[in-house]
Amino acid sequence: MRDASRAWRADGRTIGLVPTMGALHAGHMSLVDLGRRENDVVVVSIFVNPLQFGPGEDFALYPRDLERDARMLKDAEVDAIYMPSTDVMYPAGAGTRVRVGDVAEPLEGAFRPGHFEGVATVVTKLFAAVEPDRAYFGQKDAQQVAVIRRLTRDLDLGVDIRVGPIVREPHGLALSSRNVYLNTAERQAATALSSALRQAAGAYAAGERDPEALRRVLIGRLELEPLVAVDYAQVVDPATFQKPGYLGVVAARVGKTRLIDNHDLTKPFPG
Ligand code: AMP
Repeated sequence: MRDASRAWRADGRTIGLVPTMGALHAGHMSLVDLGRRENDVVVVSIFVNPLQFGPGEDFALYPRDLERDARMLKDAEVDAIYMPSTDVMYPAGAGTRVRVGDVAEPLEGAFRPGHFEGVATVVTKLFAAVEPDRAYFGQKDAQQVAVIRRLTRDLDLGVDIRVGPIVREPHGLALSSRNVYLNTAERQAATALSSALRQAAGAYAAGERDPEALRRVLIGRLELEPLVAVDYAQVVDPATFQKPGYLGVVAARVGKTRLIDNHDLTKPFPG
């Protein structure tokens, strides 16, 4: 991949990278579109990164459909798909890991030990392989965005981190490759996450400024739904994920499927 990138760069062409784990949907494609608009060349990586899955998680089950992904990316006129094998990414003996520190510790970091170390390690390697000018991430994974911004800054990676808005279904459910796991009742129950964020944004708009009160709005809505088991619901500062702020973040299990969502409560909820 690096040789192709260097040839593009030698031609004076700018490169945008969209890292994904495949099973592509309209959320991924919105990042591809953004990348197209801002760069001469767009590269999409597809790699289901074993390092970012915990022992009891869904690595083996994670949806994979490379033929469909390739068709979607061809239709979107992507210039290259980078699809390294696990052996290329992590040859025997490759033990180096990238640990970002504080922003990676609470919330997702606490519920998924090692997850952000896996993400930071693979993103560092993808940046090294593709040498992009810009890289595109979804606000859907808000803490991941904060982790990658910190990583890029701390290690002077020289990549401009660009963030695309969350793409949702009409009733609010954030698109996710994991939504295919949901049965009909679970899919209905899963709308509690976006609905909780909508209600909390409504409370903010009505004048509520106490993060703890906004958090109670989130919890109150999630707990109405018996199929939803809450991992966390918090209202935090979007840069640190520690100080209080107005980013509402929720994670919950719906049946066996773990879902996350978030919304800047100072803004009206879309739709
Ligand atoms: P994944 O394949 O799940 O690792 O996601 C690849 C990229 O797509 C990440 O930067 C995600 O944040 C982003 N993404 C996933 N779902 C959405 C969505 N519904 N809207 C916008 N971006 C998304």
